[in-house]
Amino acid sequence: MPLIVQKFGGTSVADTQKILGAARKAIRAAQSGNHVVVVVSAMGKTTDHLVSLAKEITDRPSHREMDMLLSSGEQVTIALMAMALESLGYKAVSMTGAQIGIKTDSSHTKARIRSISTNRMKNALDAGHIVIAAGFQGIDDDGNITTLGRGGSDTSAVALAAALNADQCEIYTDVDGVYTTDPRLLPEARKVTQISYDEMLELASLGAGVMHSRSIEFAKKFGVTVHVRSSFTDTAGSLIVASPESNSPVAGAAIAKNEARLTLVGVPDKPGNAMRLFARIAEAKIATDMIVQNIGQEGRTDISFTVPGNDLTATLDVLKTVSKEIEAKQVDYQENVAKVSVVGLGMETQGGVAEKMFRAVSRKMINISMITTSEIKISTLVTCDDALETLRAVHAEFQLEKSPTPFNSSSNSPKPSVSPNPAELSGTLPPTQQNQTKPIKPELDVARLSGMEDILIEAIHLDQTQARITMPNVPDKPGIAAEMFERIAEAGIVVDMIVQSCGRNGKAIITYTIPRTMLETALEITRKLANEWESDEPLYSSTVAILSVRGTGLRSHTGLAYRMFKTLADAGINVNVISTSESNISITVNSTQGEQGLQLFKKEFANEMM
Ligand code: ADP
Ligand code: ASP
Ligand code: MG
Repeated sequence: MPLIVQKFGGTSVADTQKILGAARKAIRAAQSGNHVVVVVSAMGKTTDHLVSLAKEITDRPSHREMDMLLSSGEQVTIALMAMALESLGYKAVSMTGAQIGIKTDSSHTKARIRSISTNRMKNALDAGHIVIAAGFQGIDDDGNITTLGRGGSDTSAVALAAALNADQCEIYTDVDGVYTTDPRLLPEARKVTQISYDEMLELASLGAGVMHSRSIEFAKKFGVTVHVRSSFTDTAGSLIVASPESNSPVAGAAIAKNEARLTLVGVPDKPGNAMRLFARIAEAKIATDMIVQNIGQEGRTDISFTVPGNDLTATLDVLKTVSKEIEAKQVDYQENVAKVSVVGLGMETQGGVAEKMFRAVSRKMINISMITTSEIKISTLVTCDDALETLRAVHAEFQLEKSPTPFNSSSNSPKPSVSPNPAELSGTLPPTQQNQTKPIKPELDVARLSGMEDILIEAIHLDQTQARITMPNVPDKPGIAAEMFERIAEAGIVVDMIVQSCGRNGKAIITYTIPRTMLETALEITRKLANEWESDEPLYSSTVAILSVRGTGLRSHTGLAYRMFKTLADAGINVNVISTSESNISITVNSTQGEQGLQLFKKEFANEMM
């Protein structure tokens, strides 16, 4: 019998009437001939309320007790949902994370799923029950209750769909699909019919709260097609799939409002320092983003990065010790900054996105204080006050409110999806049609993975075709990056990585990489600009090697970047520009050390290779 996993988020089970409504959806799926597993979140704002209760008692509650507390929210919902189903004449059984057999590691409040045993669920389904599973929670080897991190019920649902080899995974929420940006912030946002795993993963980790980013890691790894749709209507939602049907360069924009920027100023520029810094932060399980290391001047360099605002205190604690260890001159930080990003698979093949984005922001006279890019995203850091206007400007610039042009099979864009027409997904499909929605699973030897949520590395790559230019001391004011990358683009040069450091003393530093063959032309343009802006002579390296690791779970596994840095540091290889995304981490080093770095990475990551 086909199996369907349905997840209902907090708003969708906020009161008993809504729980009954969700129960009716589950019943409809059962009546259509499916086994049904329902995953639920805590009711409404219950989890927030529990967090504030803890805060009334202590600023630093033990993480174990937080998990004990927070997991209670989902336990209430599963019982009520089972009662709702029984009251409507259906057999149902509720199960906590432990009863399902969701085994996690012991990182309380941020636990990762190691394995799921499906026997008990399967027995209950075979006995004709609808299974109601508590989202967000699991159990560690010592029997302690753990939680997966805020928003983690999505991850429970997709992980269960993967473990049960479900035919459908539906995420019911308070919006009717995935939009080009948060529709509550920009009403002009457009619902997308399909989006790729890579784009959704990136958007989710950059602030699109509609899906927990780790749920998309599962979906991608195990080939689960996810259907995001409304709890309150029957309209078709959005499908998250391997290869979507559109080929526009930008799929969506995201905003992360509550971010903090930290800078270690005057770090001695030698191998191992970046490693030590990120090792300590990784140990504290803090996910960093927008890492920018300036090209060293006078033997010292500044390293900046962003963390979620909630992690600021913990990060400052870490930096207090580490800045002494690596003899940094000072720690500088800024709260209330926001990250506005655009994401799109098409960026890999179509240029022009960066300069368009920077120009859209500069037209609003908004200053971008940091920039980082990866192959499928561009992130800018602005003040919280400017964030919404930045998002609006960028969304309009890429005309995200309009439907993209249909997929053209003669272009070199991603292949068409194997998923069905989303229009067919309206309501619950009869079993025969449901089989069509079964995704084609990637060739993945799941048994080889020691843990379901472990990092999976697809490729390690060395690019020896690039050169690097650094422009120190450019004015830290609106329009600088736009001007620079427009001129470079006008000369037909395709820029790969871009990083701009946060301005200090009214000056910023911009570094970018380009094909070596274009170095002379790019230098000429950059020198002209340096002249106009009265900034310093550009620095360059005609021979940089870019080492990249591609895979799934790279950023949420905070230790990976650290292992890359450590591997290079142990071999005395100095790191220059760093670019991180969910599915790719690239590091530039001196090209004479590129081949050595590649071999070292292949050895270091041999166990995690697909
Ligand atoms: P649930 O409780 O069902 O898990 P969430 O509040 O976690 O729901 O996620 C749904 C919310 O995500 C929406 O109400 C919307 O405001 C927000 N959101 C952010 N970005 C997006 C986006 N790109 N598309 C749709 N919704 C988004
Ligand atoms: N109840 C948890 C939270 O509010 C998990 C979830 O809803 O996904 O974060
Ligand atoms: Mg959610």
